[in-house]
Amino acid sequence: LLLANQIAAGEVVERPASVVKELLENSLDAGATRIELDVEQGGIKLLRIRDNGCGIAAEDLSLALAPHATSKIRVLEDLEHVASLGFRGEALASISSVSRLTLTSRQVDAHQAWQVTAEGVGINRQEAPAAHPPGTSIEVRDLFFNVPARRKFLRTEKTEFDHVFEVIKRLALSRFEVALQLRHNGKSVLSLQEACDEASRARRISQICGAAFVESSLKLDVERSGLRLWGWLGLPSAARSQTDLQYFYVNGRMVKDRLVAHAIRQAVQDVLPHNKHPAFVLFLELDPGIVDVNVHPTKHEVRFRDSRAVHDFLYSTLYQSLADVRP
Ligand code: ADP
Ligand code: MG
Repeated sequence: LLLANQIAAGEVVERPASVVKELLENSLDAGATRIELDVEQGGIKLLRIRDNGCGIAAEDLSLALAPHATSKIRVLEDLEHVASLGFRGEALASISSVSRLTLTSRQVDAHQAWQVTAEGVGINRQEAPAAHPPGTSIEVRDLFFNVPARRKFLRTEKTEFDHVFEVIKRLALSRFEVALQLRHNGKSVLSLQEACDEASRARRISQICGAAFVESSLKLDVERSGLRLWGWLGLPSAARSQTDLQYFYVNGRMVKDRLVAHAIRQAVQDVLPHNKHPAFVLFLELDPGIVDVNVHPTKHEVRFRDSRAVHDFLYSTLYQSLADVRP
């Protein structure tokens, strides 16, 4: 069991950033509207996440750390319509097998919270009552303390934190309605209020991507035959130092997809031939029945039922929007 879990852990847990991704996705799945993250030493020493989501029932607490324990699939057909971000039930089991993990949770109508701790697999698993507001806290300490071979592959504190930060930015861009606080070594790094109107959405984009990007980008929102594309497309002046600023979301999930990348690059180049690396934060929304974003759990691929139609829509929408503002 130990070995099986550590092998499974290798698939989802590569570094602190992969832990953060899984924990954030769980909080979002739990309907959290407020998430706080504390990171110490790039996440190698400590990752702590607190949310105000639905919480976990006392009797399910230990189960949440067990392999293949997911509360998110009830029938097989659910697999075809997975709306939640996680559905494999592996993350917490894997993370707890390679760290010192404490899970504290309380459902809104429960009269108290419960806590379970795990150190590696099966070592020192305990449950105890605890004080905690409705929601869930997960503390992950000393990542890979029992897997020296993996620990050796971790990079500097700064590099690991950069990866953590990137994961958080990606998620913060996809969930404007969720407030998010991030601290690193006790210092506030990001403090995002919930953003439910145009102005506050633009403010969040500017906190994450920089004011220069928002000020010099084209804001668009186009809907046609069931497809909607909205967001910000950087014009050349904004793109200069922002070649890594490329975020594309399909139904709220970030993807890196060749078809999408091609449509964007082609449209931009056809209007602005010198803009080779456009910066963008774009959101595509379409019927979840005609897209599969779960092709592989850790990759960012996506499969559209009618990829030609999606490509044409992206290309023509961006081409037209850019042509309209071309100087
Ligand atoms: P998955 O997300 O694939 O179901 P995980 O191992 O990530 O599997 O989580 C296991 C289970 O623990 C989830 O299905 C969920 O029921 C519960 N859980 C984990 N994190 C939270 C959270 N922040 N709030 C509420 N429930 C949670
Ligand atoms: Mg999960």
